Amino acid sequence: MTKPATNPVTTKVGIIGAMPEEISVLLRALTNRQDEHEAGFGLHAGNLEHTRVIIAQSGIGKVNAAILCQLLIQRGVTHIIMTGVAGALEPSLHVGDIVISRDALQHDVDVTGLGYEPGLIPGDEKRWQADSHLAELALMAAQDFAEVNAVMGTVATGDVFVADLASKTRLFDTFGAACAEMEGASVAQVCHKFDVPFVIIRSISDTADDAAEVDFRAFMVQAAERANTVVNAMLRGLQG
Ligand code: SAH
Repeated sequence: MTKPATNPVTTKVGIIGAMPEEISVLLRALTNRQDEHEAGFGLHAGNLEHTRVIIAQSGIGKVNAAILCQLLIQRGVTHIIMTGVAGALEPSLHVGDIVISRDALQHDVDVTGLGYEPGLIPGDEKRWQADSHLAELALMAAQDFAEVNAVMGTVATGDVFVADLASKTRLFDTFGAACAEMEGASVAQVCHKFDVPFVIIRSISDTADDAAEVDFRAFMVQAAERANTVVNAMLRGLQG
C-alpha cells in the first residue's frame, strides 16, 4: 500500500466521540486549546501529537453524529476519526478488544419490503469504506496493546442499544459485522458525501447480549480510554 502524503500544515483532524468519556483522555492532552460552541456542540480546537485537531462530543445516535460531522467538515477538517465504545457482534471479541472499521453500514435501515437488501438505503450505498491508510495506522496502533485482540471489520450502526443474544446473532448473521454501535456509519455517510477520509475506532464495552447493560456500565470508561489511546498513537503515525 502506498502511503498518501499528509501535510502537517494543512492536516486538521476532526475527532468525534458520542459521550464525554469517549473524548476525555484526548481533551486532557489537547494543547493551545480554544473552545467554541455551535448548535449545542462544544468544539475544542488545538494540537494533539503535533497535529491540528478539533475534538467534539456528538451525543448519542446517528442524527447527532451526522450533524456534528458536517459542522466539522465545514470548519475545514481534512480527516475524521470516530472514537468510542461498542458492543461485540463477532463471537470471538471480548470486552476491551478493539475494532477498526474496514467499512460501516446502517443495520436499522430496512426497505426490504420493496425488495432492497437489509441495510441498503435506496439510491445510496450500503457500506461506506473507511480510508485504508487511516485504518492501517489505527490497526497498527491498536496492536501495540498486549493481550488485546485488535481486528479490522465492519461496524454496524443503528439507533438501538443492542442488548440481547437474538438481536446480536441476527446482526452478525445478516451483516457479518464485528461490532454494533450508534454513530459510526452516519459519520461514514457524511464523510463519503464530502469526500473526507474517515476511520472508526471502537473498543468493546459489552458483548451486545443479555449482559450488555451491566457490562456497558462496568467497562465503558476503561474501553473509551483505550480507544483514545489508539487515536493518540495513530496521530503520531499520520504525521510520521
Ligand atoms: N451513556 C448513555 C447512553 C449510552 S448509549 C446513558 O447511559 O445515559 C450506548 C453508547 O455506546 C452509544 O454511543 C453506542 O455507540 C455505544 N454502544 C456500546 N455498546 C453498544 C451496544 N451493545 N449497542 C449499541 N451501541 C453500543
